[in-house]
Amino acid sequence: MDYEGYFAERLHSLKREGRYRVFADLERQVGRFPLARNYRDGEVHEVTIWCSNDYLGMGIHPVVLEATNEALYTCGAGAGGTRNISGTNHYHVLLERELADWYKKDEALLFTSGYVANITTLMTLGAQIPDLVIFSDSDNHNSMIEGIRHSRAPKEIFRHNDLAHLEELLRKYPKDRAKLIAFESVYSMDGDIAPIAEICDLADKYGAMTFLDEVHAVGMYGETGSGVAERDGVRERLTIIQATMGKAIGCVGGFICASASLIDFVRSFGAGFIFTTSLPPTIAAGALASVRYLKEHNELRVRHQERAATTKWRLREAGLPVMPSVSHIIPLAVGDASLCKQASDMLLSLHDIYVQPINFPTVPRGTERLRLTATPLHTDEHLDHLVHALSDVWRRLGIGRQAA
Ligand SMILES: *Cc1c(COP(=O)(O)O)cnc(C)c1O
Repeated sequence: MDYEGYFAERLHSLKREGRYRVFADLERQVGRFPLARNYRDGEVHEVTIWCSNDYLGMGIHPVVLEATNEALYTCGAGAGGTRNISGTNHYHVLLERELADWYKKDEALLFTSGYVANITTLMTLGAQIPDLVIFSDSDNHNSMIEGIRHSRAPKEIFRHNDLAHLEELLRKYPKDRAKLIAFESVYSMDGDIAPIAEICDLADKYGAMTFLDEVHAVGMYGETGSGVAERDGVRERLTIIQATMGKAIGCVGGFICASASLIDFVRSFGAGFIFTTSLPPTIAAGALASVRYLKEHNELRVRHQERAATTKWRLREAGLPVMPSVSHIIPLAVGDASLCKQASDMLLSLHDIYVQPINFPTVPRGTERLRLTATPLHTDEHLDHLVHALSDVWRRLGIGRQAA
């Protein structure tokens, strides 16, 4: 086989469709976020980031930097092993306790990323629990889909946030058959939110466990910031809550919170937990400081929601097609992969504004979009610049102004 030719041909077709991914070469700068250096065409530009998942700017927050720095010089760069073989650092233990307390669950378990937390937990439960059927929201993140797929458990996919369809599927199985409903709170591409309480009602009625991904809500919703389940007062109804430390917590890593026996089960049978080097102590220390800060500082969440709402309002006022979103996510409809990429390129090259295009397979074809995120650190001046730049690019490219 002509291996090189095969790779080149597949990549060429991605490029033809405008779906080929090009990474912006960035250098984040402490003290200047959301500004960053952007290396392009042999030059260094200063750009404003409008698509960061460091939603609250915790990745450059002094309390996180100090904790990370202190752990670096006390514990060193790496953990030195898997959790089982000398790699459980005291910071891991403290962080797991802090997370369990935050979510009001018995225990928490750390993973090297949110992706690994999802794939490992779902794969372990699906493969180990006899006859488990997994009910999965059609818009679930790839990490959940892969976990379910690799578990080889039978699965039922319910239409996105569709309670009637979920119930119709649950009803097909006897009540004593093991079941798990896997879904997210904030869906990060549309910015809509799951009816968590109603899904818990169905879980109770049909004897199912629940698995909630709070990746795009952790740090940002609820009085202490643990997520939408806290905001809705339903945390204790969920069997497993999963989230990341890579987004609003500002570091990297993932975790689940659940009962002591479920956590011990995944700790004991989850290959993606067992057979990998644990997170560096620096990261555990930084995330610990970040979580402690987030718990105490609701004003950061208030400011974040205000910035997101103001951004949506300013874009709508300028006639830009903001798609409906009940969360902090701001999707702007484009509806074509190649236009979407061009819009993103022009924002960067003409206006030094960085917003990554979101294309298939992340979203369905025909719903390509720019996905903006405003942080508490985006000022009114940043916003004026954004509105001006988007209006200019929309005019140049003749993109429609109606939201899909
Ligand atoms: C980003 C993301 C993950 C993966 O989290 P990482 O910590 O980045 O690996 C999981 N679920 C959802 C919904 C995500 O958007």
